[in-house]
Amino acid sequence: MPDLELIKNLSEAFGVSGEETAVRKIVLNAIKEHVTDIHIDSIGNLTAFKKGTGEQKLRVMIAAHMDEIGFMVTGHDSNGLLKFTNVGGVDDRILPALRVRVGPDGMPGVILWTPIHKNHDQNVTKLSSLRIDIGVSSKSAAESKAKRGTRVTFDSEFSMVGDNVMRGKAFDDRTGCSLLIELLRGGPYPVDIVAAFTVQEEIGLRGARIAAQRLNPDVAIVLETTTAHDIPLADADPDDANTPNPGCKQGLGPVFTVMDRSMIAPPHLLAFLRQVGEQHEIPHQLKTALGGGTDAGRIHLSNAGIPSMVISMPARYIHAPRAQLRCDDYDNSLRLVQAALMDITPQIVSREATL
Ligand SMILES: [Zn+2]
Repeated sequence: MPDLELIKNLSEAFGVSGEETAVRKIVLNAIKEHVTDIHIDSIGNLTAFKKGTGEQKLRVMIAAHMDEIGFMVTGHDSNGLLKFTNVGGVDDRILPALRVRVGPDGMPGVILWTPIHKNHDQNVTKLSSLRIDIGVSSKSAAESKAKRGTRVTFDSEFSMVGDNVMRGKAFDDRTGCSLLIELLRGGPYPVDIVAAFTVQEEIGLRGARIAAQRLNPDVAIVLETTTAHDIPLADADPDDANTPNPGCKQGLGPVFTVMDRSMIAPPHLLAFLRQVGEQHEIPHQLKTALGGGTDAGRIHLSNAGIPSMVISMPARYIHAPRAQLRCDDYDNSLRLVQAALMDITPQIVSREATL
């Protein structure tokens, strides 16, 4: 079973890209007894070292990003409403009437759309004409409560639905952070681990680049959540074989990326992951959807090139207030990464082995 207390704390923490301090504190407290060489770099990545048994001479970077998508205050109307913009990918269609938290102290706000009486058509209201209402009625009051640049998150609490389904905000990628924390608490592993809790992934994979360059690992594993496309489409039957390939589904275990917009997985490492899954009888699935990218997109191009793998948990409704992830998918992802760390060798990582 996942550490639900840890996931709840991580999920509810305020951590829109560039403002990851609260998440970093939770991570730091959770790992400090289990690692050495804790370092916070110039951009805000938290990195740490976990020494292996020495059986394998391999330095494995494992990365998960601390930041979440959200919003930023960009201005103030004369009537006290806040103008805002998105930080990372947000779908305008989910915004009207949404509850939000403004600033690290969590001032409650609600998104309204103006002018409400003119919205008789069916068009999606663009973010630029939406406002956040924090309950004040003058520009000066709004300015003093939420300065330009203040970050805004979804107002969403962690919850369990039954005993196998977690819901909450920012599962992308706080559940990845939680997986990494649980890995660091475990072990020892035959390999050395350099852990990177990265920043600013959602706005262009920025922290990972700096972390990878400094840590200079032999190989990297990125822990992520990815979109489960197993929901009914508007005019298609999800059980119909002719429905376009959904990418991945809930309940079928960790997802290995074959290719996305940021990286093509090295075939020999992909084969290794599949072999680990089969040998240890851990369910797993492949993702070939081209959309999206991950920290691996930067890591694999760092220094002289760092072979990288992406292992994701299939979650519904990411980049929205209530993402949904199954505990069995989380547990199987943890088992898969643990098994991979036990089995990986320098020979497996080397391209020469494929000749
Ligand atoms: Zn992510």
